[in-house]
Amino acid sequence: MKITDLNRNGGIDANSLLLEWGPFRIVFDAGLSPRTAGKAGVPRYDLIGPEPVDLIILSHCHLDHLGSLPVLMREQPEPFVVMSAASMVIARRMLKNSYNVMVRQREEAGVTEYPLFSRREIDQIGRRVLPLLFDQPRVFTGRTGESLVVTLHPAGHIPGAASVTLQYRKEKLFLSGDILFAPQNILEGARLPRDPVETLVLETTRGLTARPVGQSRATEVERLLQQLDEVLAAGGSFIMPTFALGRMQEVLAILHEARRNNRLPKVPVFASGLGLDLVDYFDEIARKTGACRFRRRIVEDLGVVRLPDTLLRGRLPAGPAIYVLSSGMMVEQTPAYVMMPRILRDPKNFVAFIGYCDHATPGGRLLAADPGSLFRFDAIEKEARVEARVERFDLSSHAERDELLEFALSLRPRNVVLTHGEPEARAWFAAELAHRLPQARVIDPVPLRTHEL
Ligand SMILES: [Zn+2]
Ligand SMILES: [Zn+2]
Repeated sequence: MKITDLNRNGGIDANSLLLEWGPFRIVFDAGLSPRTAGKAGVPRYDLIGPEPVDLIILSHCHLDHLGSLPVLMREQPEPFVVMSAASMVIARRMLKNSYNVMVRQREEAGVTEYPLFSRREIDQIGRRVLPLLFDQPRVFTGRTGESLVVTLHPAGHIPGAASVTLQYRKEKLFLSGDILFAPQNILEGARLPRDPVETLVLETTRGLTARPVGQSRATEVERLLQQLDEVLAAGGSFIMPTFALGRMQEVLAILHEARRNNRLPKVPVFASGLGLDLVDYFDEIARKTGACRFRRRIVEDLGVVRLPDTLLRGRLPAGPAIYVLSSGMMVEQTPAYVMMPRILRDPKNFVAFIGYCDHATPGGRLLAADPGSLFRFDAIEKEARVEARVERFDLSSHAERDELLEFALSLRPRNVVLTHGEPEARAWFAAELAHRLPQARVIDPVPLRTHEL
């Protein structure tokens, strides 16, 4: 088997792997970089070469896995795209939002290569998508008449997220995608097979993040709710930058539960557009596939208000409020970014980051900023002194590193390929696997280089 990481920037960026296995050529994921603008943020699909791809497989709908799918489909006009039935409900909505953001960035930041694809191309995706239910194997016959069996497994993480088993002849390859084993309010944890595999492709997001002893997701939720209560009681506002897909609905479900248990004061809750639109899609997924348990009434019961444009640009309302705004890493021009200068200036306010935050993004920089220092928002030409408290709560939607390690050991793989992690995070897995699984070969693929397994 040959494996080529098409993500030119390494780390967690525009995820995409080319797998060449027997007569099959498969592309796993088609991401878009969250930090590199223009065509440079697209995986190097030109390295696929002139021979066509047999199958495209998508793990889930976060843009670092989905964002360049229309580009790949344009360059590869033949192959089917396999994704979970739940992902199919969300994929076009996510791409349309990405399209709108690109159009705006073309106007505001002069990125002339944007948009990278057309609305028409998004609309046409459905024709080539093969939605699969979890745990139901599907046989594909290649051009040479040989078969490949594809099985999707529920990976936790976000609704629709899948891990994938590929079987060719007697050998198995397991692709983790993004995994969360712990259950969330809106979703069960991952349910994955433990059969031995030849090759495991493993996400490594949390390789550098060990949970402190005594801390769990539940204790972090508790700490968040206590902090929320204190801040609101003292008349401050509480802002949570969150990813629109998955995190935002999870946070709203946590707030809903707290409100039902009389633990959340009745203050206005504002949320930004895409995350609120996705509520309807999640409701559909819950009704049609059972792949999540988020229902629309959570938003109705909480009385969530769509963040109005006047608020995004104008004065904040008097009195305490809760803001659940994208994006999770406070990327430039997102609602969280645009609101933040006004939130930061008031020492009564509180900023809670709750998920993964790349250190190079504005969110990562704000988390590292000294209290009282001046923080610049270059993209909107503003600055603010960090008077509000800024803290991180660990409600990550990625599995603990020890859980992933145990999982890797249970599959007894001959090869482990590390993906979706910063270099230091991959290094932790490489060292642990060398120690705990000495007979396995561990590969941290060099971007754009073909590795023979
Ligand atoms: Zn993800
Ligand atoms: Zn990811």
